[in-house]
Amino acid sequence: MSGNGFAAVPAEVDVVVVGAGFSGLYMLYRLRELGFSAVAFDEAADVGGTWYWNRYPGARCDIPTTDYAYSFDPQLEQDWTWSEKYATQPEILAYLRHVAERYDLRRDIRFGTRITAAAWDENAGRWRLRTSQGDEVSCRYYVMACGCLSLPKGPDIEGAGRYRGEVYLTAKWPHDRVDFTGKRVAVVGTGSSGIQCIPLIAGQAAALTVFQRTPNFSTPAHNGAPPPDRLARLAADREGYREAARWSRGGVPAEVTDVSGVTAPEELRRQRFEAAWQAGELFAILGVFSDQGFNPVSNGFVAEMIREKIRATVRDPDTAEALCPKDYPFGTKRPCLDTSYFETFNLPHVRLVDLRQTPIVTVTETGIDTAEESLQFDAIVFATGFDAMTGPLVSVDVTGTDGVTLAGKWERGPASYLGLMTTGFPNFFMITGPQSPSVLSNMLVSIEQHVDWIADCLQRLRTEGFERIEPTPLAEAGWVQHNQDCADITLYQRANSWYMGANVPGKPRVFLPYIGGVDAYRRACDEVAGLGLFGFRLDGPAGSRCNDGVIRRVQPDVAILLDLMAALPTIETMSAADARAFLEAIDATRPPGPEVGEIADGVLPGPAGDLAYRLYRPPSAGPHPLITYFHGGGWVLGSQDSDDPFCRDLCLRTGAVVVSVNYRHAPEDRFPAAVDDAFAAVQWTAANAGRLGGIPGQVSVAGWSAGGNLAAVTCQLARDAGGPDIAGQLLLNPVTDCDLGRSSYSRNGEGYVLTTALMRWFWDYYADEADRTAPIASPLRGTLAGLPPAVVVTAEFDPLCDEGQAYAEALTAAGVPVREIRARGHVHTSLVMADAIISGAPVRAEMAEALSHWWPAPVRG
Ligand code: NAP
Repeated sequence: MSGNGFAAVPAEVDVVVVGAGFSGLYMLYRLRELGFSAVAFDEAADVGGTWYWNRYPGARCDIPTTDYAYSFDPQLEQDWTWSEKYATQPEILAYLRHVAERYDLRRDIRFGTRITAAAWDENAGRWRLRTSQGDEVSCRYYVMACGCLSLPKGPDIEGAGRYRGEVYLTAKWPHDRVDFTGKRVAVVGTGSSGIQCIPLIAGQAAALTVFQRTPNFSTPAHNGAPPPDRLARLAADREGYREAARWSRGGVPAEVTDVSGVTAPEELRRQRFEAAWQAGELFAILGVFSDQGFNPVSNGFVAEMIREKIRATVRDPDTAEALCPKDYPFGTKRPCLDTSYFETFNLPHVRLVDLRQTPIVTVTETGIDTAEESLQFDAIVFATGFDAMTGPLVSVDVTGTDGVTLAGKWERGPASYLGLMTTGFPNFFMITGPQSPSVLSNMLVSIEQHVDWIADCLQRLRTEGFERIEPTPLAEAGWVQHNQDCADITLYQRANSWYMGANVPGKPRVFLPYIGGVDAYRRACDEVAGLGLFGFRLDGPAGSRCNDGVIRRVQPDVAILLDLMAALPTIETMSAADARAFLEAIDATRPPGPEVGEIADGVLPGPAGDLAYRLYRPPSAGPHPLITYFHGGGWVLGSQDSDDPFCRDLCLRTGAVVVSVNYRHAPEDRFPAAVDDAFAAVQWTAANAGRLGGIPGQVSVAGWSAGGNLAAVTCQLARDAGGPDIAGQLLLNPVTDCDLGRSSYSRNGEGYVLTTALMRWFWDYYADEADRTAPIASPLRGTLAGLPPAVVVTAEFDPLCDEGQAYAEALTAAGVPVREIRARGHVHTSLVMADAIISGAPVRAEMAEALSHWWPAPVRG
């Protein structure tokens, strides 16, 4: 027998699992089912994990319990009935005990035991673990099922250890009943734990003082019986419901709206918000508008409507104002669900201390001193949160290959592959680790997905003759980048949240969970498995195998665009007229671009008649540099309307007057009509720069796609004609050559909006074969010396990528100053979609910065 009173710890097992909460129990169940020998360890005296420790008054789940439950065994679901919409901690703990008993799991769990150290033995191909009871265990695979919010942060407050009264930590609540009757109680912290316990403590205490550093967004849970509609859906089609949860964004089947907060009328905004408020569910209030997670205006509508509710509930206006979160977007700190939280502040014996106004100076032996007063308490409750996600993992002394520790490797933030494994730590798995959806999802759906993936992986390794698995550095770096890309398009990084590690002093500021969605994440994991464990190196008796690569390289919002576009008909199957009508109809549904100082439509004289143009003026006083812009569309499609959002963006970012010129299109007017018009337009804008509000001599050209082709060509024509002087050329994904055989055509010619077939369709409409190699059709074939400085932007997943880069190289070789910008994860069309593709914004900012070097005078935006 070992020191914890259970069976002796085996010296060798196939798998060690750390944790006996929801994830550890299910992992153990799956391992046993597959015939692996396994043992689990937990510091607690029984199963439950989070639900073992967090016994504070009011503790309950905030995902509906119908969804916050295992789905792996239909019989288990049939046999268990939840009594409430959001079950209490005792009920959830009872459920977990029931699960442990039902599947006889306790016999393989060693309670009261921590794994204190783990070291990888490369020669043996095994992990060697040490326990707090002094036992040593060797295992082939080591699974950390230790939870994301299991390492309490503790009160990092001056003098906290000095207090002589009763002290409670919500995350380590005593098992015996705590009675606050007649006592003066302080609660420090207003996150989910604080917000849940404050109303109940107020119900007992003689006086309650709440110390709030940051106000939190909280909405009423409307708890009660489990919602009948959900029970009915489950009863009608249990598996269908669970499957919908697995493929949903958050792990709960929910409406995915396409109503944008920015464009919805006020009445619809309020209606949607009220419905979400009444639903009393996190994913409802997080999904009022399609764009609230990344558009600050849309987010601001939800935030303000919640503040209105707080002001309407809390009677004292100063207290209400202090309880209103104002300095971070809604949802970017974990929102809370409550029962009478704000109402509690109307009670005469409850008081709020706003630490932003009156900070804590020190905890004393008898209470808390703030900057203004000395307060005495019989009990202090610290609801101060956790060292989330990474904390529980690095708190164990884990040493991988070459003596590297996990804490050392993650010193500047976690790096993982799929949140499941990390390079340098073979056979080491994490359940709901950093860079997996975990805390942003219904934990149960994420836990089951992770456990199933790991179990399937271990079974497969055994079947295929491998004993060692480790992600490659390339695959891991790609996943880390993808995580960052996903976070970058949201508002989440604006808050000092535990998602960002910002609640723990000294912790690196990195967005920890994967925010691409449960569905997208599951798809990535399935693809990795389907591609022979893509991105992993496998070794064993069967030899070595590695199908290396990066599983997600396209920017996340571009990926959504591609999904939408995949459902649309292909343009090259249409006539030019039908294609124009089709694209104009799509353009009409797009939101407008940003406001600029002034927009004016006009006409300028072209060689075959007037050419329409649209002028964009920055809000600042002029004169400004001037850019003559040519839209994209393969010389066949597009107009000053199609590129309107991009021109607005360009005008604002560069502080230049942008003149977007419509030129004649093929097939009605074939090559070189567009070239003639473009050159005439540049001559006209240069001659009229002053009248247009531009600075004479500071006229540049810019264009996207076929427009980039025209911009490049006009620079060559202007040089050869001895004028006008062009300050610079911005070539965005330009067509520079008629050769469709370049490697980027084979890499990117299918599935990225602009296809090889479409490009051929454009060329065929535009120019005869014999004309295409002329430098004014294929500027790459021209003489490039003496051209104005260039900014050349290419997109990674564009068939035109190689010819753009070839043009940049050729310009450089010819002595032209070039700034080349390679847009990672972008496609041909995404960078100009200033109104829709957020991940293009940093590229457009870099573009604008590069342009500013052309102009000697300071640019005022
Ligand atoms: P938390 O959200 O991190 O909240 C901690 C609170 O303590 C915050 O208000 C924080 O202020 C405050 N605080 C921390 N250190 C402080 C200091 N030195 N001085 C003053 N105030 C301090 O932690 P939590 O409430 O335990 O919740 C953590 C997460 O656990 C939740 O977000 C949720 O995911 C999960 N949870 C879920 C439930 C549920 O309903 N199922 C219940 C509880 C917890 P700042 O905001 O300024 O840092």
